[in-house]
Order: sequence, then structure tokens, then C-alpha cells
Amino acid sequence: MGAHLSTTVAQDRAFMQIVDGKPVDSLSGERIDVVSPSDGKVFASIPASGAADVDRAVKAARRAFDDGPWSRMPAVERGRCLTRLFQLIEKHGAELGALESRDTGKPVRQGKADVVATMRYYEFYGGAGDKIHGDTIPFLEGYTALTLREPHGVVAGIIPWNYPLQILARVAGAALAMGNTLVAKPAEDASLSAIRIAELALEAGIPEGVFNVVTGYGRAAGAALSGHPLVDYVTFTGSPLTGTAIQQAAAVNNRGVTMELGGKSPQIVFADADIDAALPVLVNAIIQNGGQTCSAGSRVLVERPVYDKVAAGLAERFSKLVAGPHEADLDLGALINSKQRERVAGMVAVAEEAGIPVLAKGSVAADAPESGYYQAPVLFGSVDPEAVIAQDEVFGPVLTLFPFDGEQEAVALANGTEFGLVAGVWTKDGARQHRVAKRVRAGQVFVNGYGAGGGIELPFGGFKKSGHGREKGFEALYDMSATKTIVFNHG
Ligand code: ADP
Repeated sequence: MGAHLSTTVAQDRAFMQIVDGKPVDSLSGERIDVVSPSDGKVFASIPASGAADVDRAVKAARRAFDDGPWSRMPAVERGRCLTRLFQLIEKHGAELGALESRDTGKPVRQGKADVVATMRYYEFYGGAGDKIHGDTIPFLEGYTALTLREPHGVVAGIIPWNYPLQILARVAGAALAMGNTLVAKPAEDASLSAIRIAELALEAGIPEGVFNVVTGYGRAAGAALSGHPLVDYVTFTGSPLTGTAIQQAAAVNNRGVTMELGGKSPQIVFADADIDAALPVLVNAIIQNGGQTCSAGSRVLVERPVYDKVAAGLAERFSKLVAGPHEADLDLGALINSKQRERVAGMVAVAEEAGIPVLAKGSVAADAPESGYYQAPVLFGSVDPEAVIAQDEVFGPVLTLFPFDGEQEAVALANGTEFGLVAGVWTKDGARQHRVAKRVRAGQVFVNGYGAGGGIELPFGGFKKSGHGREKGFEALYDMSATKTIVFNHG
């Protein structure tokens, strides 16, 4: 197609998926309209793939894995390809950021930040794959035993719509660094950046068939991919219900999975905390990406003596927050689609009808198109920790605030949901920092800070309903490979 060689690529067009190094339509010719959440208008289209398209892509990835050269290439060579991809993303950064913002409705600065994080993934994994090695194991007299880390084979990556560039990068970076080949299925609501990355991957010298992107609906393309018998390993980031469906499909073939399934992450503010430092971080942790972040800090637990102060500080900030079109670059953009907007608005309405006090609401910019999917931020106070709004993931700009008395209650409340992804602990007491960080059941704990989604070097994943397996950092390279033990008898 040649389009990937230009610096600016038209956004308003019929995009093709990338299979076996080529841009291809769906076999049926069916397509999905691409809508900008900022105004609800169609501006592009993607192929609507089904089982036959998935089969074509998985077979291409299978051949690329089995016949090489990717899986047999020295790790350092694979790393160089990923490093070139990092450089190409940097070169096309402005275009990718703009495309991501338009496709998802996120403010332009968030699109830019996502490009920077995406670059870091490919940079990190470009340099990491050749640092993973096995062990030699003391064994019986006359034997030498050693382990190798080997790729699984074909990895399926089912990608959500909230951070399409970043989440594809964390899957692809780790999977490819270890020598796997990939079939990625981005979300039907946000597939454009994945297509561009697969184009750039070819330009970076990643061989045909190694980095495939198949677009389509979850129930069609996603289901076919997670249950395909030639797929060796499945990774998924998304909602718990879909995670269950994908695990059931993968279980038919007894394949391994990594699941990152969201959260209801607590931030615990003790009375001795630096509240002025905490307030902007508490707000950002729920507002970033419109609250559509798995690791959003959606529950704030405050020690009673400072509850009113924290509530007042948050309310002041919430009342000034404004949602609007991505180009306006306001505090938050539109939500991804009308279904999500209705879901979030519905959860807010139920909580309000139940009498949960609204401490503050932000607003939607007056000139935001009526046809966009905007939701004003909402701060609920004195929330019963068992209320639905404090237990279920909203995936929108909705913060629940409630008081606690003492460390023990704080930990119990923090752990009192089905999730366990991230937590924040705010206190100056060093011993308490350690105690609470250890007792909170979360895959990441931030002390006197919070990194919703941040830190590509930092292992990330959940306990309980938030999932299993770890992504990011070196840990992901272990998830994306399997240990082989070899024993030599030279006795
Ligand atoms: P949402 O319901 O908000 O779209 P999901 O967690 O269901 O969020 O979607 C995340 C990803 O999972 C998307 O790529 C979607 O297409 C895919 N998906 C949805 N349903 C299935 C399914 N049954 N099997 C495989 N993938 C699916």
C-alpha cells in the first residue's frame, strides 16, 4: 500500500487489517464504521472480520513462528527490530497521537502521552529480550541440568479501547521480544492505531506474519481468536465478564492466559498525609482518560479527622472540571461510545436516587457537540462502602469518597471489593507505609503518589477478580515464555 511511508497518513479512509505483512480486507467484505466519540460522526471504516479471517491470520503467525526466522533469531536481533519500531513511532508520533485522540475521544495531550508511553514499551522490550536467561541447576552426580526460556509460539492479544496504543505495545513488546509471533485483535471501537503500528512494524524490519492485526467485533473475531487451536497463549485486557468468556474459549485447547480485568482501586488517606500534595493526584487518578482506566483510583478512603478537609478540597476541584472535544484538550474528553456513556450515567442516576450525597459535579463544555458522548465528572461523598457505586467498576469519571477510623479499618475497606489491581497509601509514617502496602491486596501499591497506568518498567496485574498473570517490566517476559528443562546424562 505504501501509505505507511508518508509522514502524514489520511485518517478519513477505509483502513485495512494487516495479515501476513499485507493490508487486507475482511474475506466477507463487511466493514465496521469508525465513529469519533467527540461528535458521534463516522470518519473511517475497518474490516469486520470473522472466523475465516482469524484462521488466515493465525495460520500466517503459525508459519512465521514454525518456519522462522523470528523465533530462531538471536534475541539481540529481535530487540533491534523493536528498537527501530520505537524510532518509527517517535517519527510518526504526532500523527499517531492525533489518530488515537480522534478514534477514542481522549484529549490531545493524553493521545500524546500515550504515544510517549508506547515508545517506551518498544524501547524497553527492544533492550530487554536478550537479558532473560535460564539457570543451571545442581542435580545428581553425572548430570547437568539447565533451563531455557522459550517462546510459547503464537500469542493472541485481545486489546481494549481505552489505551489501544499502549496496551498493544505492552503485549506486542514482551511477546515479540521473547520470539513469539502475534495476532492482535484491537477493540472494534478503537482499531486504527493498531493498524498503523502493524504497518510501522513491517517498516522496522519485523518479518511478515510476525505482527498481525485482525479487526472485528469481539463476539466474532475475538471469540474465534481466543478459541483457535493453533494459538498457544492468550492475553486479554478488558472487562471481567469478557475475560471469563475468553478463558473458557482458551480452556477448550488448554492454553495459558494472562488476564487484566480492571479494578475498583482504593486510595487511603491517613490524617497525617500531605493533603495538599494528595488532592491533585487523587483527582487525576480518576479523571485521566475520563475514568476509563483499569487502574483508576475510584475509591478514596479518608481518616475521619481529615475527611471534611479532603472532601472540601476534592469538591472544589471537581466543580471546575470540564469535559469537551478532544481538540479542545480540556480536563477530559468524551467517553468511548453511547453504550458506555449510558452505562455510566445510569450508575450515577441509581446512586443519586439511592440518596448518596453528590458533593460536586463538573460540567460539559457549552460548545461540545450534542452528538458526542460526554459525561460530567461526579464526586459522591459519605458513600456506604457496600453500595454498588463503591463496589462495581464504573469506568467513567465517578469518584466515591468515604471515611474510616484507624489503620485496621482502612485495610479492611481497601480490600473490601472483588478487585485487587492498584492501591494508593498516603501517610508520612514510614512504618505504616510498609505495613499497609503489604496488607493491601493489589498488584501495585503506590505510597504518597499514584500512577494510574503508569510505569512501563513496573510489573502490573491483579489479585482476585482483577485477573492473573503479570504484564509490564521484566515480569511480562516470563509470562510470554515457558521454561524448558534439559538434563544431560554424562555419567
Ligand atoms: P466492552 O464491553 O466495553 O467493549 P470488553 O472487555 O468486552 O469491553 O472488550 C475488550 C476487548 O474484548 C475488545 O477487543 C472486544 O472486541 C473483545 N471481546 C469482546 N467480547 C469478546 C469475546 N466474547 N471473545 C473474545 N473477545 C471479545
